[in-house]
Amino acid sequence: MNTKTLTVNAASRSYDIAITDSGFVSLRRVLGELGADNAVFVTDSNIAGHYGAQLGGSPVLALTPGEENKTLAGIEQIYHFFTAQKLHRNSVAVAFGGGIVGDMTGFAAATYMRGIRFVQMPTTLVACVDSSVGGKTGVNLAEGKNLVGAFWQPSAVIIDSRFLETLPERERLAGMAEVVKYFALGERKIAETTDISELIYLCCKAKAAVVAEDELDTGARMTLNFGHTFGHAIEKYYDYKRYNHGEAVAIGMRLALETGQFLGVTPENVTHEVIKLMTKSGLTYNLDVSARAFLPLRELVPLMLGDKKNSGGSIKLVLLEDIGKPVMHEISAKELEELFK
Ligand code: ADP
Ligand code: ZN
Repeated sequence: MNTKTLTVNAASRSYDIAITDSGFVSLRRVLGELGADNAVFVTDSNIAGHYGAQLGGSPVLALTPGEENKTLAGIEQIYHFFTAQKLHRNSVAVAFGGGIVGDMTGFAAATYMRGIRFVQMPTTLVACVDSSVGGKTGVNLAEGKNLVGAFWQPSAVIIDSRFLETLPERERLAGMAEVVKYFALGERKIAETTDISELIYLCCKAKAAVVAEDELDTGARMTLNFGHTFGHAIEKYYDYKRYNHGEAVAIGMRLALETGQFLGVTPENVTHEVIKLMTKSGLTYNLDVSARAFLPLRELVPLMLGDKKNSGGSIKLVLLEDIGKPVMHEISAKELEELFK
């Protein structure tokens, strides 16, 4: 068994991330260490189709896949499953899936009986390199994405990249966008390897450091939003249909680099270095045409103002002064519109 371990020292809880080639062996060990009286899996029906047989007869709830089902109604379904399986304060829920399963299981765990423990076992690249670490949980409302949620750290994260073998290519590429983000934020070794477990390790290491410093997202953690303020607006502009999260973030990073250049914050060679890695990683589908040429940039501005991270008439952007040197830059809606003329 080959396992690499990282520790996340978040203010509310410390826990390990195991990057392993034996996910279920690790999970059994972790559940033993946690002294869980009982444990259940929450997953979705696609993942259950691939890996359900490996869940060893434990109780499983398979949610309906899709962002449109990341709702309070879905959470209620999880609560009913928890009660039917007699989960109590000393039980553990295992989130076995992508970001949606992780966010929902985490939120249900945060609130069921005022909080039970949960373990993240991610099966998408986005979840392996980003969303399974750090304790952001929640669901969407009709009014917007992730408007209801809680910070609730997992008790362990178990990552087995073999689960990624069945992941559709488009989903894998989406994850590569987050990988490139961690390169831009300073994890330079990412450009030197193509080994997926090593890439996951490097991203988790970077994320763990940021979460340890700023669990509640009031300072350093905001830099993880690089490419995301634009990205969220792009996703929303197309009603979440045209681009998935990673694709929108890839375009968003490019726009953040261009904006940084316009404002004299980002040197051109930094933009080139990030784009070079995007291209090498296969993130070319949306970069062959300059984003400027086909995106209605001005129309993104009101959507960016609506982001829950912004208030008043200004927009907080993460720009790059250098690889590994993100800076928060506040820009008024007017200025940004000028820039996008
Ligand atoms: P993300 O982690 O990007 O938020 P989702 O939770 O939305 O991803 O999952 C993306 C899609 O991929 C869903 O349709 C999900 O059922 C499917 N999926 C997740 N993990 C796997 C896997 N290991 N193999 C095949 N399909 C998967
Ligand atoms: Zn993201």
